[in-house]
Amino acid sequence: MINKNNSELLAPAGNLEKAFVAFNYGADAIYIGGPNWGLRKAAGNFTIKEIEIISKYAIKNNKRVYVVTNIYAYDEDLEEFEKYLDLLDSVKISAVIFSDPGIFTIINTKKYKFEKHLSTQASTVNYETAKFWKKLGVSRIVLGRETSIDEAQEISKKANIEIEMFLHGAVCMSFSGKCMISNFTANRDANRGGCVQSCRWNYKVSDTLNGTPLFDGYPLNSRDLLGINLLEDFIYKGIKSLKIEGRMKSNFYIARTVSIYRDAIDTILKCKDLSKEKLQKIENVSNRGFNELFLKSEAKNSVRLDSTKYQSKEEYLGIIEEIEKNTALIKVKNGFNNSDNIYLLTSDNSEYKINKFYDYSGIPLEKANPNTVAFITIPQNTTKYNVLFRKK
Ligand code: SF4
Repeated sequence: MINKNNSELLAPAGNLEKAFVAFNYGADAIYIGGPNWGLRKAAGNFTIKEIEIISKYAIKNNKRVYVVTNIYAYDEDLEEFEKYLDLLDSVKISAVIFSDPGIFTIINTKKYKFEKHLSTQASTVNYETAKFWKKLGVSRIVLGRETSIDEAQEISKKANIEIEMFLHGAVCMSFSGKCMISNFTANRDANRGGCVQSCRWNYKVSDTLNGTPLFDGYPLNSRDLLGINLLEDFIYKGIKSLKIEGRMKSNFYIARTVSIYRDAIDTILKCKDLSKEKLQKIENVSNRGFNELFLKSEAKNSVRLDSTKYQSKEEYLGIIEEIEKNTALIKVKNGFNNSDNIYLLTSDNSEYKINKFYDYSGIPLEKANPNTVAFITIPQNTTKYNVLFRKK
């Protein structure tokens, strides 16, 4: 039986602007990192003030904010961590996502008001582990990436607990992201937010005796996860939260992926047919080649050995920062020319061709440079945080 409440669309947000983009395009919930402790130091991340702003917005709009605190902590981290958790509780976030039992002990001792979600980093792949955490007070489990949708359904039923699963985006090559490649290659601790993505690098192997090249390529470079064609399975099998990866990705990536998944989830909930044409647009955003990885079975053929760089078919240009009547101010991120193939993506997943751009005084622009502004005339259903993109 489909239950609308069983289909949360959970989006990444690397900063405050991306959080508003995600909500604007239909995310039910977002996951974010605070100033520390969230496994994505390069993601921009939120100050406590910004977390307070987005939490207030979420409460008012019946949305949810989860804060990622899933490092493996050392003794020296614990005191600071407790102060940080106090602050998170005071700004009324919905939940923390943790992985370290030590952190969990602090959370439980302090009796915070936020929910406790167990991170994928904790590698839960069976129902007994799920029951174990539930007994201790965890309300949701983000399963290990190695779990299939069928296995997730069993775990959810047998442990009677909410399940969150990744259905889109980049994945780690290591077991549920517990990885040391970055530590060894760049002295950056992946389990404390410092990953430099060494698994995506080019590796050359040669015979040490005579120097003969043996291998030149990308033996550790996983393709990205694509769950869009299994969306009905996720929903019918009662997976509570459907999670998109990508806190370091652009506003356009968030807008595009969230609006496509939103549209598809709503279509399924209304028992209507999905439009293949709409779903295929997911492949236009940046990716390393897609695969369903473990969602159905084994993750075979999921390493992308070849070195050809994937060219995304669409490119982020800018975001609507202000609207007055039928005119919008665009904050330009990547420059463009008037003759480019430029579109506005509105929150209901519609695209509008934009042919004319203006400056402050209404004079048509030939081109717009990065980090400037431009003005456009907009259709009625446009809102703040809608994005502009170029089709290549
Ligand atoms: S190096 Fe690759 S596999 Fe390891 S943590 Fe970073 S992204 Fe994941």
